[in-house]
Order: sequence, then C-alpha cells, then structure tokens
Amino acid sequence: MNPEALIFMGPPGAGKGTQAQKICETYKVEQISTGDMLRAHVRSGTELGKAAKTIMDAGSLVSDEIILGMVREKLASMDTVRVLFDGFPRTVGQAEALNGLLQEFNTPLRQVLLLEVDEEAVVQRLLQRAVEQNRPDDNEQTIRNRMQVYQQQTAPLIAFYEQAGLLKKVNGMGTIEQVEQSIHALLDA
Ligand code: AMP
Repeated sequence: MNPEALIFMGPPGAGKGTQAQKICETYKVEQISTGDMLRAHVRSGTELGKAAKTIMDAGSLVSDEIILGMVREKLASMDTVRVLFDGFPRTVGQAEALNGLLQEFNTPLRQVLLLEVDEEAVVQRLLQRAVEQNRPDDNEQTIRNRMQVYQQQTAPLIAFYEQAGLLKKVNGMGTIEQVEQSIHALLDA
C-alpha cells in the first residue's frame, strides 16, 4: 500500500478519537494521537511525561518541540507511513513542521477532515467523558480553557489547510454511525 497521511481536526470532545479508530480500521492507516502518546508517557513516568502532565492538566498546549519530537520518532519507526493524525497538528508551527516531516518521509497529505460541532454540546460531552473515564483534564475549568486554546491556537489551521485545498468539513453532530458515513463519503469521493 502507498504511504499517505490524513489529519483529523476538531475541538476537544468533537468525537475525533472515536471516529479516528473507525477510519483506521477501514482505510488501513495507523492512528497517531499525540494526546494518547503523552498520556502513555505520563503513565510510565518518563521525564517527558512529568514535564507534560501539569500542562495537560491545565488544558494548555505542550511545546511544539516535544510534540514534533514524538511524531518524528513515530514516523521514523514505520516501514510505510500510512497514518491518521488525531489531535495533531494543533498550532500553525506544528502544521508547518509537519509539511516538512511528510516531505522527508515521502508521504503525501491526502486530506484534512474537520469535525464541526456545536461548542456547548461539546462541553456537555466532555463533562460526561470526565465521569466515564476519570480524566484529570476533563473538569469544567480545564474544558473551557481547552476550548479557548483550540479557538486561539488551533482554529487558524482551518484557513491554513483551506488555502492548501486540503480541508473537508464534516458535520459532527449526528450519531456515531451518521458521522462515520459522512466521513466515508468524503474519503471515497
Ligand atoms: P487530546 O487527548 O488530544 O485532547 O490531548 C490532551 C492534551 O494533551 C491536550 O489538552 C494538550 O495538553 C496535550 N496535547 C495533545 N496533543 C497535542 C499537540 N499536538 N500539541 C500540544 N499539546 C498537545
């Protein structure tokens, strides 16, 4: 199979993780979730994990340098890069660096999917997830901060990828199955 990369964007709680898992099964790509990678570091108590934990608990962004180092290491470990980035890139700096990385690994960026959701509905989803998964970054104050961080630092990527002609918008407010169908329709088109 040919190398390719997809990016999955959307505010925290939009359902990216759930849909990402499904896409990865159907299209035989590997999910790269920088949030999951960071949580793994926190669990194993690495230096990186210790540095990241306070930042994550506050709902702020871990430095581009740390994130890009993790992503580079992951890409370098793959025979064929077939990936779906979930929760990465989150800043214009990360997006620019990703372009360079993908060139280096001869991997075309096929599409950027943006899950669009109603923000208040998303906050409710996150509060629910806080109860279910007991995540320390899912209390209301952190959630509001993560929304603000998304608007300020990540939302500019929408224009960045629109200009590159790569952005596709998906209505994220349906059932899991409906959203999955919309994504399939876009990727199969
Ligand atoms: P997530 O599971 O994707 O919502 O990520 C949880 C937390 O990890 C975020 O609130 C950030 O603190 C951190 N994080 C994950 N991915 C990134 C990224 N690409 N850039 C900066 N921080 C990140």
